[in-house]
Formats: sequence, C-alpha cells, structure tokens
Amino acid sequence: MIAIKHTNLSAIAQNHYQAIANYLPNKKLSKINGTVSKVFGESYDLEKIILANPSELKQLAVAENKGKVIFSESYYSYLSGDYFYSQPNQFYRGSAIIESLGIRVCPYCNRNFIYNLNKKRATYQLDHFYPQTDFPFLALSFYNLIPSCVTCNGLLQKNDREIKVNPYDSDFPFDKLRFELKILKPDFYYKQDSFDIAFDLSQLNATQKADFETNMEVFSLALHYNTHKSYVLKLIQQNITYSKAYIQELANHFVGTIFENAQEIKGFVNENIDTNFHLRPLSKLTHDIAKELGLV
Ligand SMILES: [Zn+2]
Repeated sequence: MIAIKHTNLSAIAQNHYQAIANYLPNKKLSKINGTVSKVFGESYDLEKIILANPSELKQLAVAENKGKVIFSESYYSYLSGDYFYSQPNQFYRGSAIIESLGIRVCPYCNRNFIYNLNKKRATYQLDHFYPQTDFPFLALSFYNLIPSCVTCNGLLQKNDREIKVNPYDSDFPFDKLRFELKILKPDFYYKQDSFDIAFDLSQLNATQKADFETNMEVFSLALHYNTHKSYVLKLIQQNITYSKAYIQELANHFVGTIFENAQEIKGFVNENIDTNFHLRPLSKLTHDIAKELGLV
C-alpha cells in the first residue's frame, strides 16, 4: 500500500467540488447546503463535506452514524456517485481525478495498473473509503474517493469490511512501512522457497499497526505479494550481478552508441528503484528490497 501524494492536491480537490457545484442547479445546491447544515451543523455546507480531509472525514462518518441520520431520497440522487458518473454526456468522470493525480498504479496494492482507456473503458474503479450505502453524505467527498484496481475494490465489496488506512491520510506514516526479505535458508539467492516476502511494521505504533493489518487482511496483501517471489528472486540476482563496476564497464563500451548515458544503462539492467511508487507496479517492493540489499 502506498500514499496518494500530489503537490497540488488541494487544487485538484477544489476542482472536483467546482465540477459538481457547476453541475447542480442553484436551487438544488442551496437545498443541499441546507440539508448538510441540518445534519452536520451550521458551519457545514456541501463544499466543506466534499473537501473534508481524511481526519475530518472520520469525524463526519461518526456524525453520519452509518446512514442512521435521516436522509431524503432526492438528496441521495444528487450526492450519489452513480448519479454523476452515469450521466449520458458525462460532464465529469472519475478519470479526471486519476488524470489530475497522475497516478498509474492502484494505491491499495501497488500491483495493478489503473488508467482510462477511452470514454467507456477503464481499468480503475473509485472505491468509497466510507461505503456510500452506509455513508451517503460522503459519497462525493474527494478524499473518500480512492482510485483503485478492480481486484482491490472487489475484495472490499466481497469481504464487506471497512478498511482503516486511507491512502490520502498524510498523518499516517507510509514512509515507515517496509517490505523485507524473511530469509529461511542461505540458498535464497537462487531458490525462491528459501525466503518469504514480509512486511516490517515495527516502526508503527500499536494503533497504526492494527489499522494497517486490517488493510492487509482485507486486500490479502501478504498472499498476493508472496506470489511475486520469482520477481524478487530475479531482482536479487539482477541487482547483484550488475554491480556498479560492471555497469561502469558497460558504460565505457556503450555510452554514445546505443545508450545516452550511464544512468540509462543502469535503468536498463536493473529495475527502476526510485520512489515514484504511483507510476509502476511493485515499485515499493522493488525499492525496499533493493535498499535491504544495500543497492540504494
Ligand atoms: Zn489494487
């Protein structure tokens, strides 16, 4: 699991609100604002609900009390994500969120690509972190809409479970999560049965750990990641075989002929090990294992 980050996150969220507000007739918007104030208090309106950050969402979810507050059908029809995204001439779609964020891989699993193919087809879904059946008022809240892959969103619905860690939550220490090799036998360099892929959660406090473990369980992350052992084995062998000295040797031969610079050779022979986790599948795993092996 990785964080969703962007330098202009609040501007993207604001555009999201604006697109919805522009679509609503003025009368409807003021009616909705009136309903929101009644439910959440005088200082709340639709804008505030839509722009609520992850910790504010937590409080709003408590106030909404799993849909036990009175909720009128007409209000739901306007706030429901389905209503907006099923319009014949869709004025604003989930793809706009994904494209603005520049995110290419599911943040829940960091395994599957998510993107828009055309107006009708896409490999992403927008998961409602707080499900819209229980929290209809939060159905269009920006930080409640998590771009995710079909597998992860399916697991959430199948398990009918709430997850605890929101990828937008800047208070959660995502940088302290780490994959690690659990070495079982010394021949792990060439035998994938001789190691496991594990999660090191030792830097999290007890609440963070319990929350993250809930996410892991719902998305079956440990099981999924241990299907990628052959990839990790290749990563270990590849990164060790192509040492710095060997890459330099290749650079002496090929820079200026088939490669522009030594960095390009490095990218060619080793997996990318930068921290742009949102761009490539398994990038967090790749980075952490490479770091553990002392390669970055
Ligand atoms: Zn996923």
